Amino acid sequence: MIIEVDKDADAGAVAALCDSLAIHDDVTAWPVSMGGRRFVAVSGDETCVPDIYAPIVVGRHSTNTCGYWLLDRTNGIAPATINVGDTPVGGGPLWCAAGPCALESFDDAVATGLAVRQQGAHALRVGIFKPRTSPYNFQGKQGPGVKLLPELKAAVGLPVVTEVLDPRDVGLVAEAADCLQVGTRNMTNQALLKELGGAGRPVLLKRGYRTPVEEWLRAAEFVVAHGNPAVILCARGISSFDASLRFMPDLGAVLAARERTDLPVVFDPSHSAGRVDAVPQVALAAAAFGVDGLLIEAHIAPERMYRPGDGGQAYKPGKIGSLMAACNAVREIAAGL
Ligand code: PEP
Ligand code: MN
Repeated sequence: MIIEVDKDADAGAVAALCDSLAIHDDVTAWPVSMGGRRFVAVSGDETCVPDIYAPIVVGRHSTNTCGYWLLDRTNGIAPATINVGDTPVGGGPLWCAAGPCALESFDDAVATGLAVRQQGAHALRVGIFKPRTSPYNFQGKQGPGVKLLPELKAAVGLPVVTEVLDPRDVGLVAEAADCLQVGTRNMTNQALLKELGGAGRPVLLKRGYRTPVEEWLRAAEFVVAHGNPAVILCARGISSFDASLRFMPDLGAVLAARERTDLPVVFDPSHSAGRVDAVPQVALAAAAFGVDGLLIEAHIAPERMYRPGDGGQAYKPGKIGSLMAACNAVREIAAGL
């Protein structure tokens, strides 16, 4: 349940309303501000809520039918543009974050970052905590890798997007990175999502590869409802019965997300295609569906990457500029048809 309160309500009065709700067993209530409006979010036993009277209350919104009330497009309060570093994602030219799957060789990461920047990418993507299909694959440099991020960022001169796996790492990673990624294997980790609500950094939320769009949007609502409206949705392919591409591009999800919320929607063609030769085609298809940006794995020397699978989907940085130009053009053409 979302209780809307007067946008000019005194903070003390909002806190008192939260306290009056929280005296009920199994009820948690907390303030949320979004889109210039103010709310009290209530979770738990709702039977007490109809009895609540407070002069600051201006509306009550049930969340029983739509579990993503704050993000629901019809309510008009979700942000359509979110900045990563100084660059807006959404509402303008295609945004692009590109870079290595994982931070392995520091020098290669710097060289890759400089190359993608030179091609016009707006952010460097790089994995420090790596969720893996197998526990025997490289799990990323982890804590010591986070300490390398400021130097990497300074050397490349781009904002950094990196994944956080564990809620306990959110604070540390938020200090060093500009945008926190939630991977497909972690999208349903609600402890992590809640923690990201207080991260003070934009979140790039990937769709779970077996997750319906509605659950993806509810996962985004977890972040937003806990205080962070800056969520960028990222589609990245879903499991299918056929493995011609590693994950089937979830283009319908792009449409659905755009229809149901104003949040920016980006696409990761690398993890969908799983093979470098199909990355541009999948990116162009996503562009035709109007995505706001792309997240692309790129590496100056894919043969040096630890895992042949990662190397096999790493795009050549030198082609990022022409891919972005083509995607911008396709997006415009598709929008005009
Ligand atoms: C990634 O982008 O580095 C990644 C691991 O992606 P996903 O969570 O989509 O597999
Ligand atoms: Mn990867």
